[in-house]
Amino acid sequence: KEFRNNVKPNWCPGCGDFSVQAAIQRAAANVGLEPEGMAIVSGIGCSGRISGYINSYGFHGIHGRCLPIAQGVKMANRDLTVIASGGDGDGFAIGMGHTIHAIRRNIDITYIVMDNQIYGLTKGQTSPRSAAGFKTKSTPQGSIEPALSPMEMALTAGATFVAQSFSTDLKDLTAIIEAGIKHKGFSLINVFSPCVTYNKVNTYDWFKENLTKLSDIEGYDSSSRETAMQTLMAHNSLVTGIIYQDLQRKSYQELIPGYAETPLTQADLHLDQGSFDKLAAEFM
Ligand code: SF4
Repeated sequence: KEFRNNVKPNWCPGCGDFSVQAAIQRAAANVGLEPEGMAIVSGIGCSGRISGYINSYGFHGIHGRCLPIAQGVKMANRDLTVIASGGDGDGFAIGMGHTIHAIRRNIDITYIVMDNQIYGLTKGQTSPRSAAGFKTKSTPQGSIEPALSPMEMALTAGATFVAQSFSTDLKDLTAIIEAGIKHKGFSLINVFSPCVTYNKVNTYDWFKENLTKLSDIEGYDSSSRETAMQTLMAHNSLVTGIIYQDLQRKSYQELIPGYAETPLTQADLHLDQGSFDKLAAEFM
């Protein structure tokens, strides 16, 4: 079960994305997947390169659009474990429309966001996750907008699996990705993944000082949406662990009559060249 390939990542030394890559590879092996049983679809940004660094099916999509592609892959071949991945700018700015509807739709894929609170690939601009007052090239006097809270947003959109982790907590992050893969429905995993080159505020040390593990909160109940929301608000969303999981709601696929039969990729659609040409002509 070898999920490593020969491609050397060109992330900056110390970038948090290295650990996310390692955690995905470990989680996939731990749940017993084979490389040909997994597909990784990524968006655009430094983190978007990840689909080329893991030995599985990979699709490097377009900016903010990894989720429509990933959902299409899953609907066409439910036998694949599908992981969508990208950065906070990709998923929570240009891709937010897709993110919110993928959450409420609940197709069985795992979405891992590498959240560094900045646009790294374009050399350091304010992202929807940058805090008010954050100074970058695009906001030299400090951002006047508050940061988006993706975990609260996901809870209100009807998410069935909401989790957060920190890239250096490799053991915890791997376990959360395993749980996300096993979850029957859409799982959103936001990973604090520091950009060591452009974000000099939200550093590894800053996260170590400010994050609280849910496992350290006595009696925390991840099956309660109310508890999840209250805890996020009490800790300014700076918590790690599985914040909320709904084990009762059925996934999108489970609600489609007949979906449990042959995957589309293996079905005989009786399409010969003549019928394909006829179909294509209708769209000309
Ligand atoms: Fe990572 Fe930032 Fe470098 Fe991009 S610019 S590879 S996010 S450290």
